[in-house]
Amino acid sequence: MKFETAAIHGGQINTDSHQPVVQPLTLSTNFVHHEGSLIYSRAANPNRLALEALLAKLEKGVSAAAFSSGNAAGMAVFQALAPGSHIIAPDDMYHGLRKQLTTIFDRILEVSFVDMTEVDNIRSVIKENTKLLWLETPSNPLLKITDIRGACAQVDSKEIKIVVDNTFASPVFQNPLDLGADIVMHSATKYFGGHSDILGGALITGSKDAFWEKIKNVHETGGAVLSPFDCYYLVRSIKTLAYRMKGHAEHAGIIATYLDLHDKVEAVYYPGLVTHPGHEIATTQMTGFGGMLSFLFKGSAEETDRFIAKLKFFTNATSLGGVESLIERRAAVEGPDSKTPPNLVRMSVGLEHLDDLLEDLDQALMG
Ligand SMILES: *Cc1c(COP(=O)(O)O)cnc(C)c1O
Repeated sequence: MKFETAAIHGGQINTDSHQPVVQPLTLSTNFVHHEGSLIYSRAANPNRLALEALLAKLEKGVSAAAFSSGNAAGMAVFQALAPGSHIIAPDDMYHGLRKQLTTIFDRILEVSFVDMTEVDNIRSVIKENTKLLWLETPSNPLLKITDIRGACAQVDSKEIKIVVDNTFASPVFQNPLDLGADIVMHSATKYFGGHSDILGGALITGSKDAFWEKIKNVHETGGAVLSPFDCYYLVRSIKTLAYRMKGHAEHAGIIATYLDLHDKVEAVYYPGLVTHPGHEIATTQMTGFGGMLSFLFKGSAEETDRFIAKLKFFTNATSLGGVESLIERRAAVEGPDSKTPPNLVRMSVGLEHLDDLLEDLDQALMG
């Protein structure tokens, strides 16, 4: 089954003798005891089972777990590690997950943050207690690319699990399990949901090993599970994921080129541009370059804010992956400790008509 077909047919499990065409929403928290019954919805419910089966298919894994947010999914991986374990993570890791490691797990786990654009940096920090290599590519907000195959090749021990945050690429354009990773993580809040109205997260595994059993225990016993309602809506949204991603990537590619040629723009970060330092590697592991880009506006923080305020179709808001275009000055969101340049603008390119988006950028950059 191809991706588009699996996305439409893969989220259906039979739970109703009327045979509805779409998976019904089952809100019941408990199930009448009988052989093979689901028992209690924190452990399992039909909508979560349907979503997890779908996610496993789309990421080419064998099993999946749906969490109440992307951060909850990431946290379950860290909670599944034994105290004293060492983690290797990117120096530009998603800030919310980085904050977990530095403020929640700081006395329980050891972390080395390294520049993952040079995969040779990984081997030199591996220690006896290293148990996890965390990757994120393309990264946020500079769209840095990590060579997933090359990073996996740095790890000789089966004791070190490799997890890839695949949120920016989506499984439409990148399947880390095929490139050597053990587990894939997603913020389902972004492209999976695709309409800025669902908070969710997921892990997908390539094998049901002992580490996955630990994660499943955190999931079901810890209880940060996705509600049946949110599972229902994610299955619904994912049916159009492939077509949305193709639109996002097409628009982002054209806008990146447009910005690259504009004299009010200092630099553009988009892995689809041949000038991007990660472009070569991206072409070997991605089948499309996604809908996220960032750029340096020629001007101060205040001038950058004024440019953003002039836009009509790019909403000044955080998050990404929705059908509507979003824009934000990243340093303003990340706060005073941020190392992000003050004139860096991050854009989630939406599915409005491309002409409207380009015209809007034209008028705002002109002023
Ligand atoms: C948003 C995001 C997360 C966190 O997901 P939430 O659903 O917000 O908890 C993790 N990684 C990346 C790359 C993200 O963009």
